[in-house]
Amino acid sequence: SNIPSVKLNDGTLIPQLGFGVWQVPDAEATAAVRTAIEVGYRSIDTAAIYENETGTGKAIAEALAGGVAREDLYITTKLWNSGTRDWSGEQGRDAVLREFDASLERLGLEYLDLYLIHWPRPMHGSYVNVWQALEQLRADGRVRSVGVSNFGTEQLTRLAEESSLVPALNQVELHPYFPQEELRAFHAEHGIATEAWSPLGQGKDLLGEPALVRIAEKHGRTVAQVVLRWHLQSGIVAIPKSVTPSRIKENLDVAGFELDAEDLTAIAGVATGTRIGPDPQGFDWN
Ligand code: NAD
Repeated sequence: SNIPSVKLNDGTLIPQLGFGVWQVPDAEATAAVRTAIEVGYRSIDTAAIYENETGTGKAIAEALAGGVAREDLYITTKLWNSGTRDWSGEQGRDAVLREFDASLERLGLEYLDLYLIHWPRPMHGSYVNVWQALEQLRADGRVRSVGVSNFGTEQLTRLAEESSLVPALNQVELHPYFPQEELRAFHAEHGIATEAWSPLGQGKDLLGEPALVRIAEKHGRTVAQVVLRWHLQSGIVAIPKSVTPSRIKENLDVAGFELDAEDLTAIAGVATGTRIGPDPQGFDWN
């Protein structure tokens, strides 16, 4: 395929474009993921909390039965270390292993490519303990890479101080309105890959942004394609979501054109510094 990859700090490769399935109901996930794999995506991003690992797993099973090799797929899911459960101590670590097993079973897989801590929940202080359980899963060969999501520099620094494994990747909200330049610089300095969630700004205002519309017209592309091209040229891993087959295809078709310096300056100019989602630093889902 012509999808570039990013090399992670553990030596593995992740496709730079993947398919996200947040908010896709389980019953619709099979068709969406089937379409994605058919048109050429090999990386799928789900999470236990999306409640569509089962539907996603069905499409993966179909692909495997149809001749796609397991090693050519890249499957990510995330630990929902929330709720009333205590995630500290040995009990917390055991709970992580059970959550992992349950996700793997729903997906119908024998191993996972990437497992992420979904939110740091810094006010609970248990993410280092949870991270140690992910280290164990990796050492046991159940998952090839482990990483985090929605972590800030403070939590990444604490992981570096209190554990022996640097996360392969941090999946965070990132799009031209909210380009996360400081965090990206920190990641680069510490060998952590950056993965963008809501890479299209959830398909809202960003895709009608006049400066981006002009760039899209110039290249004969859609704004979504320009934004995804920006992610790729910035070294970011992006996981756009859609359930519309034509858009699923469009979002993968971002080769064959290049944003120039003028385009990149114009895209930098739309940054507002405003998030769409919650600020993970002070945020808990409970
Ligand atoms: P996104 O930025 O991928 O936008 C998706 C929406 O944009 C679609 O629902 C559709 O309305 C629109 N869209 C998609 N393609 C389009 C196109 N070509 N033209 C016009 N409109 C188009 O938003 P997202 O779903 O929030 O993020 C992508 C993925 O990131 C999720 O599915 C999920 O896997 C992941 N995610 C992770 C977290 C986290 O906390 N780790 C949070 C949010 C999302």
